Amino acid sequence: MDYIKRIDELVKLLKQYNYEYYVLDNPTVTDYEYDSLLRELEVLENEHPEYIRSDSPTQKVGDYLKLDLEEIVHDNQMMSLQDVFNYQELREFDERVKKAIGSPNVEYTCELKIDGIASTIHYDDGLLVLAATRGNGLIGENITQNALTIRTLPKVLKKPLTLEVRGEVYMQKDVFDSLNEERLKENKPLFMNPRNAAGGSLRQLNAEITKERKLDQFAYTLVNPMNYNIYKQSDVMEFLKNLGFNVNPHYKLCRNIEEVIDYIESFKEKRKELNYATDGIVIKVNDLTLYDIIGYTVKVPKYAVAYKFPAEIVTTKLKDIVFTVGRTGMITPNAVLEPVLVGGTTVSRATLNNEDFIIQRDIRIGDYVKVRKAGEIIPEVVEVDFTKRVGNLAPFKMLTNCPECGMPLVKRENESEHHCINPDCCGRILEQLIHFSSRAAMDIEGLGEKQTELLYNLGYIKDVSDIYLLENYKQDLLTLDGYGQQKVSNLIEAINKSKQNRLDQLIFGLGIRFVGAKASKNLVKYYHSIDELKNAKYEDLVLIDDIGDVMANSIVDYFKNEHHLNILQKLKLNGVDPKNIVEVNDHQPLLGKTIVVTGTLETLSRTEANDLIEKNGGKAASSVSKKTSYVLAGHDAGSKLTKAKDLGIEVITEQEFFELIKK
Ligand code: NAD
Repeated sequence: MDYIKRIDELVKLLKQYNYEYYVLDNPTVTDYEYDSLLRELEVLENEHPEYIRSDSPTQKVGDYLKLDLEEIVHDNQMMSLQDVFNYQELREFDERVKKAIGSPNVEYTCELKIDGIASTIHYDDGLLVLAATRGNGLIGENITQNALTIRTLPKVLKKPLTLEVRGEVYMQKDVFDSLNEERLKENKPLFMNPRNAAGGSLRQLNAEITKERKLDQFAYTLVNPMNYNIYKQSDVMEFLKNLGFNVNPHYKLCRNIEEVIDYIESFKEKRKELNYATDGIVIKVNDLTLYDIIGYTVKVPKYAVAYKFPAEIVTTKLKDIVFTVGRTGMITPNAVLEPVLVGGTTVSRATLNNEDFIIQRDIRIGDYVKVRKAGEIIPEVVEVDFTKRVGNLAPFKMLTNCPECGMPLVKRENESEHHCINPDCCGRILEQLIHFSSRAAMDIEGLGEKQTELLYNLGYIKDVSDIYLLENYKQDLLTLDGYGQQKVSNLIEAINKSKQNRLDQLIFGLGIRFVGAKASKNLVKYYHSIDELKNAKYEDLVLIDDIGDVMANSIVDYFKNEHHLNILQKLKLNGVDPKNIVEVNDHQPLLGKTIVVTGTLETLSRTEANDLIEKNGGKAASSVSKKTSYVLAGHDAGSKLTKAKDLGIEVITEQEFFELIKK
């Protein structure tokens, strides 16, 4: 049953993307890709509602809470919005509304969908007393001190009213540009887009930092409006404006869905001139008394939708193709473009992925190419505009030698990418060093791209283990341009602090081919130190969640390499040898039991089940052997179940597992 497997895959993937987007403020896929996967999951779940998992991203508002901020339980749930991607879906929404209210006439308000962070603000007798983020919709984070620094949010209302108002905190595009310019100078990681910058700035522990980031807010929702004798969304907007809130001036009342479509059309271009990012138009039934009649799902109201603007594609000239070397030695061809405005920012570089991608699309230097920037992450070249090709342009030719070290490149069987396999290639080593100290890996503040490059070029760090010897060069560092006493102490402190990092951060930081942050997290469930992982067998690795054949082989190969073993040994000597200490309950009903989880469980993901096993004193294993105490089997359990039966191992259901824990 392929769809069950696909549902499982999509849930896992989307949860990972949510984590990267909401917690790390560092999305790895475009919003367009995310939305397409979410839509695929919605369709499958509609067809097979019995397989809707309680942890599915379709069932929850997808934000995570920052642990160090105080939790605030919302009096009224903060919901998300259902997306629509075309006019047909919009008209279907209109039909559903008309059916629900039993009338052919319905008025809508159209509001720009501001790409920021949802927040709710409480006022007592006209004074701002509490502000919170949306969080998971039920519980948000207390951001009152930070909200007080938002420029356009009133701290005192024009009337002494007690009320709750919701809106979007955002960063203006020019503020965003100068913030990133500054961060570039200071070698700090750049924010992807104004939304991520606003998120990172609002959820700060230090309100001073929030203040420096110059945030703004647009208000659009009044909680319990009828308490103030307000019955229309258009009146809410006027009411908020009169109280001193910043209300977006472009909202419009439309008499029917065709007027809504005209409004959307009129904003497709106009929105690009605005000094704030918008990712769609929010369409809301204007009559607030109809809201409860039309209803809600667990995640979204049914009386409103968000029309999402399609990914923008523009045409520009391909001036050159340049190559970069990644940390695994992978060579990426990049397009050098005639600068062009896409999605509100100027783009002059875009990825061309690999040789096959360029050859299949017959992309040549001098061509006019279509560039897409969906979700404002890395722009990509989509195709050539052949109508604009003039003259005899030379067909693309892939490099044969590494652009950094000059050694011949290798293209492995069944792979599209070329690699430099010289372990001493300066391009590779530098990228590895940068990756090691990056935020998602060892997170060493003050060791960004520029500083790493400088220390590498000066010969202080030749591989990642040398980072931990920098303390010995304190006096030398002080002689470098821009390195004062404070900066050097901070750097040494950050390096020492990183010795306490989690094992999965180190594994990810090592840059083992194909092993990303998520796979690293899965690995530490089974291997609790680098030494244990070093001895991992291919047969066991492939049984772990999301670790396939290619990744398992790559891990085994990594630990066979003398050069890598040497670095690991040096890291250990320099004090970097984290262990995965599993949190355990006092009550240990599974002590001495080894349990293997297989198939799709009803309520738990495999990772959650393994966590529970370990917390309750048991050992979660990935392969079935005579030593296995139980096999916890869900739907579609395959070879592990067969093996358990062959060996006479007891097979338990999820329900029985819960009973075991309760005992
Ligand atoms: P959403 O941003 O699509 O829509 C709901 C939100 O719109 C509301 O909570 C509110 O904050 C905001 N909004 C802005 N203007 C508004 C207005 N005038 N009236 C009402 N609400 C308004 O939904 P979401 O749940 O916040 O985020 C999900 C979206 O985030 C996805 O569709 C995707 O595009 C993106 N996302 C991307 C990734 C990724 O990896 N790229 C991961 C997770 C989420």
